[in-house]
Amino acid sequence: MTAAMRDFSSGAEWLSINTATLRKQWKLDRIVDECARRGIHTIAPWRDQVAAVGLEVLARQLRDTGVGLSGYGRGGFFPAADAAGLQAALDDNRRAVDEAVTLGAPCLVLVVGSLPGALEGRPLHKDIARARREVQDGIAATLEYARSVQMPLAIEPLHPMQAAERACINTLAQALDVCDALDPARSGALGVAVDMYHVWWDPLLATQIARAGRERLLAFHVCDWLTPTRDLLNDRGMMGDGVIELRQARGWMEAAGYAGHAEVEIFSEHWWGRPGDEVLDTCLERHRSVV
Ligand code: ZN
Repeated sequence: MTAAMRDFSSGAEWLSINTATLRKQWKLDRIVDECARRGIHTIAPWRDQVAAVGLEVLARQLRDTGVGLSGYGRGGFFPAADAAGLQAALDDNRRAVDEAVTLGAPCLVLVVGSLPGALEGRPLHKDIARARREVQDGIAATLEYARSVQMPLAIEPLHPMQAAERACINTLAQALDVCDALDPARSGALGVAVDMYHVWWDPLLATQIARAGRERLLAFHVCDWLTPTRDLLNDRGMMGDGVIELRQARGWMEAAGYAGHAEVEIFSEHWWGRPGDEVLDTCLERHRSVV
C-alpha cells in the first residue's frame, strides 16, 4: 500500500491551504497571491474571509492566478430552537452552496451544528438526539438543492469535545450512516471531509475510511494533535509536531481511492502569531516531509 502512495516529497501539486491557517496575518486576496507565488495552487477559504474581499472579486482573482479550491467552508449549523431558526439555517446553507458554485469549489464542507445556543454559552435545550434529527433533515433538504446545482456536500465529523457547540456528528461512522440514509446510491453528491484532527483517535478510522470509498471521500484535512492540548479550538499543531500518523492515514485514504488534496487546516494562536511567510513555508516543507 505504501509503495503505491503518491509522492509528495518534491512538489506542492496536492497541497491545499485552508485559509483559516493565515487568517490573522493576511486578508484572503494576499493569501491567494502568497500561495500562487510559492507554487501552491489550491486553497480552501472560509465564508467570512471571502465576504471580506468580495465573492466576485475573489472569483476573478482565482481565475487570474490559476488558484483553485479543495473545498469551501462552511455550511451546516442546522439545529435551531424553532421553525423560523430551522428555515433560516436552510436559507443560509443555500447561499453557501451558491457561493461554492461561484468559486468553483469541489465540495461544500458541513460543520453540522448541535445544541442551539451552546456556541454562545446559552444552550436552549439539552436534547442532542433532537439536534441529530434536525441535522439529518437539514442535510436532506440542502442536498436536494445542492444536487440541482451539482455541488457535493461533505459532512465533517468533529472531535467529541465539540459535540455540544459545533457538531453532533463526531465520528466517521456516524457521518457515513447519514450518507447511507440520504444517498444510498453513492452518487457522489454527499460524502465526508476527513479532518485528521477530529478523527485520528478513532479505533474504527481505517475501516470507516475503507467503508467510505472513493465516492464519499471528498476532502482530507491535516494538521497535528499536540500534547498537551491547551485550547479546545485554537491549539492545533503543525504537521509533524504532534502524535497523528498522517502518512499512515493518507495511505488508508489513497487505498480507498482518494486522489485529492491534503488540505492544511491549522487554527493555532501560536501559528497565528508567526509571520505569514514562515507559516506558509513551514506548511510547504511539512507537506513534503510529513504528510
Ligand atoms: Zn477541517
